[in-house]
Amino acid sequence: MANSASVLDFQSFSSQALSAETIDLIETSVAQFGAPLLMLDCDIIRAQYRALSNALPNVALHFALKPLPHPNVVKTLLEEGACFDLATTGEVELVQQQGVPAERTIHSHPIKRDRDIRDALAYGCNVFVVDNLNELEKFKPYKDEVELLVRLSFRNSEAFADLSKKFGCSSEQALVIIETAKDWNIHIKGLSFHVGSQTTNPQKYVDAIRSCKEVMDEVFERGLPALSTLDIGGGFPVTYTKQVMPIDQFCMPINKALNELPETVQVIAEPGRFIVAPAVTSVASVMGQAEREGQIWYYLDDGVYGSFSGLIFDHSEYPIVTLKQDGEFVPSVLSGPTCDSIDVIAENIMLPKLENGDLVIGRVMGAYTSATATDFNFFKRAQTIVINEFEENSQRMIG
Ligand SMILES: *Cc1c(COP(=O)(O)O)cnc(C)c1O
Repeated sequence: MANSASVLDFQSFSSQALSAETIDLIETSVAQFGAPLLMLDCDIIRAQYRALSNALPNVALHFALKPLPHPNVVKTLLEEGACFDLATTGEVELVQQQGVPAERTIHSHPIKRDRDIRDALAYGCNVFVVDNLNELEKFKPYKDEVELLVRLSFRNSEAFADLSKKFGCSSEQALVIIETAKDWNIHIKGLSFHVGSQTTNPQKYVDAIRSCKEVMDEVFERGLPALSTLDIGGGFPVTYTKQVMPIDQFCMPINKALNELPETVQVIAEPGRFIVAPAVTSVASVMGQAEREGQIWYYLDDGVYGSFSGLIFDHSEYPIVTLKQDGEFVPSVLSGPTCDSIDVIAENIMLPKLENGDLVIGRVMGAYTSATATDFNFFKRAQTIVINEFEENSQRMIG
């Protein structure tokens, strides 16, 4: 599949239009592999990584595997020179299998079992995150090997996922952890935070960076060992059905805030969604249909227990289009295949009259979709096919 065009015409992925090449690629893929499918385009992984690298020129990007832990994503990003943010032993194994050097990884789960720490250390990853004294104590046996980041909490009710409810501590608690670590001879390397996934307002980062700077200043004033790293987390937004700020513009105030930090502070980030979300297009087919209370229901072979699980877990709304574009568009219901009533992808969606076997395309389906899919009711997860795996072979439609 290497010689194919990009699935997504980058300029128009939030609009309705699919290019002729894209339609052709979808149809030949379904003819070959059947439906449902997820089409992962490595060219878009490259483009997203480069766009964020350009927008944050002095920040080392560590791709967070959680939204799409796929070997080809890791491989593509490794070739781009990316670093990686790991949270579990499964993620450690995935990057290890792809040959990622351990120096290019950090482990950012704030709550770990001793086993998780040992597995990461055995691989060679020695940067970890803590947000409380109980967790800090777990590192006493490894104090000569590890460097720790202390995670601060900044609440964000506007994000898809407010990741500071469950993790992170206050500035005061961070200082207690840093002082205690000094007593226990454990090296604190710096601070981290996550402002929340799909954060559309860059001011959240600016406020968090300023608060971290205050903690760093206080650490200096108290004569504690200086902090050398700030990890600004993930959360960078992508356009689904609502347009978000272009990433350059989004990162401008963030860079400005970062410039106020001492030059000795090295800044890293943990983007997940931004790198992978636009890189996957889903293809489902109509299994059957019925008219209920005056509306037409189409039953697809993929649904909220499968690739559309993000509708529930991630609170996202994916742009959905049909390959068929002719005829009158009427309000319709798109349902998943399982026997459960919550398995509905879209209600009141304007669609032309579809036949069984017709294809329904989901866009921006790369983040928190297949990662949280299940095999409920024995409906197998959609198969992922990889396109534009090698850059030199690809016919780039973007950048
Ligand atoms: C999920 C997660 C990320 C990735 O967040 P995105 O919003 O997908 O960019 C990064 N860091 C940590 C600690 C996470 O839990």
